[in-house]
Amino acid sequence: MVAADTKQNNAPQKKLNGTVIVTYRCNARCSMCNRYKAPSKPEEELTLETIAKLPPMYFTNITGGEPFIRADLADIVRELYKKSDRIVISTNGFFTDRIIALCEEFPQVGIRISIEGLEETNNAIRGLENGFQRGYGTLKRLVDMGMKDVGFGMTVQDRNAPDLVPLYKISDELGMEFATASLHNSFYFVEAKNIIHDRPMVAGHFEALVNELLKSNSPKKWFRAYFNHGLINYIYGQPRLLPCDMSFDTFFIDPYGDVMPCNGTKDKEVMGNLNTQTWDELWNSPEAEAVRQKVRSCDRQCWMIGSVSPAMHKYIWKPAWWVLRHKLRPGKKYSMYENEICRRYRDGLVTKEELDACSTCDLAAAVSDGLSDASREQLRDKTGEEIVAENLAAQSAENA
Ligand code: SF4
Repeated sequence: MVAADTKQNNAPQKKLNGTVIVTYRCNARCSMCNRYKAPSKPEEELTLETIAKLPPMYFTNITGGEPFIRADLADIVRELYKKSDRIVISTNGFFTDRIIALCEEFPQVGIRISIEGLEETNNAIRGLENGFQRGYGTLKRLVDMGMKDVGFGMTVQDRNAPDLVPLYKISDELGMEFATASLHNSFYFVEAKNIIHDRPMVAGHFEALVNELLKSNSPKKWFRAYFNHGLINYIYGQPRLLPCDMSFDTFFIDPYGDVMPCNGTKDKEVMGNLNTQTWDELWNSPEAEAVRQKVRSCDRQCWMIGSVSPAMHKYIWKPAWWVLRHKLRPGKKYSMYENEICRRYRDGLVTKEELDACSTCDLAAAVSDGLSDASREQLRDKTGEEIVAENLAAQSAENA
C-alpha cells in the first residue's frame, strides 16, 4: 500500500530533502520564537501512517517545536530510516534521558542542540532554567557515548553575537559540528518583529567566525565559512547569494500533514496534505505547482541552512569558487567589507532605516501561526505554556 502510494511507475524516485515538523509543542521560551505560545494538539500531530507515505529522501531534518516532547519519537525515527539516508534531529537538549535513549538505539542519527551563547546569554534567550547546562551536558554525554554526528546550533542576534566565536571554539575542541543561523520572521516562528539592530557589530563577529573556519583544514568548514558570509549578506537585507529552490526537490511537512515549501514564508503555504493524499498526488498537484510559482518570485531572501544547504549542493561552483578565492590568498583575511552593502553602510551611502526596510521585520504585521482550528481552540482557555506543561505532566504520570 505504502509502496504503491510513493511509486506510480517503475522509474526510481528522485530522493528529496525533507524537514519533518513532528510537533509545534515546545518547552523553551526563546525570545526570537513564539512557537511555544502556539502548540499543536497532540491528537492532530503526524502519525506513523502519514510518515510512511513520505518519499525517499537523501536527508531528513526532524524538528519542532521540541521534537523530544513526542514520546513516540523513536518510532518516527525508525519509520523515517526506511526512506531516508541521513537523519538529523534539532532539539533544545532539555530531555537528556530521552535523547540518550534514542541515540542508543540509533547511533547513526545526527543531533543538533540549540545553544544561544555562553551560559548567561543562552539562558536569557532560551528562557529555560539551567538550559545551558542541560544542553551542554547532553552534548558531552553524546560525545562520550561515541556519537559521531552531534553539534551546536546557534541563532545569532545582537544579544549573543559576542559569544559566537567562543562557542565555536568550544564545539571545535569537542570535535562537534557548529551550525549557525540568524533571526528570521515567519508563521513558523510566530513572529514578525525579529531584526538585527547593530549590523556592523553582528557582522564583525560573523567575519571573525568566517576567518576561524577558513583557517581550518576541513573543506566542510570552508563551505560553512561561505554560509556565514551569506549570513552577513542576509542581515544587511540583500538578495540571497544562491537561488531558492524550495518545493522543487525540498519540502517541509508540518504536524498536521500539510506539505509546504519551507518555514520562511509569512503565512503557511500549502502544497497538499499527506494525511488525505498520496505523495504523488500531492507533489504533482496544481496546488503544489502554484506554490512553486510563488517560490520563484519570493522576495523574503531567507538564509537558513534548510534552504541554503540544498542550493549549495546544486550550485556548488559558486561557493566552491568563493572558497578557492579565499584559500588561495594566504596571509589575507576575509573581510565583511568584501560585501558592497557593508561598505555602503560604513560610508553613509545607505541608512539604517533603508536596511531595516529591506528586512522581513514588520512591526505592524498580523502574525500568522499556521495552527489548525482545533489547536487554536485549545488556546481559548489556556496559554500555550500551560497546555504543554499539562502534556508533560501527563506523560510523567503515565511513566511513574
Ligand atoms: S526565500 Fe525560499 S525559503 Fe525563504 S520564504 Fe522564500 S521560498 Fe521560503
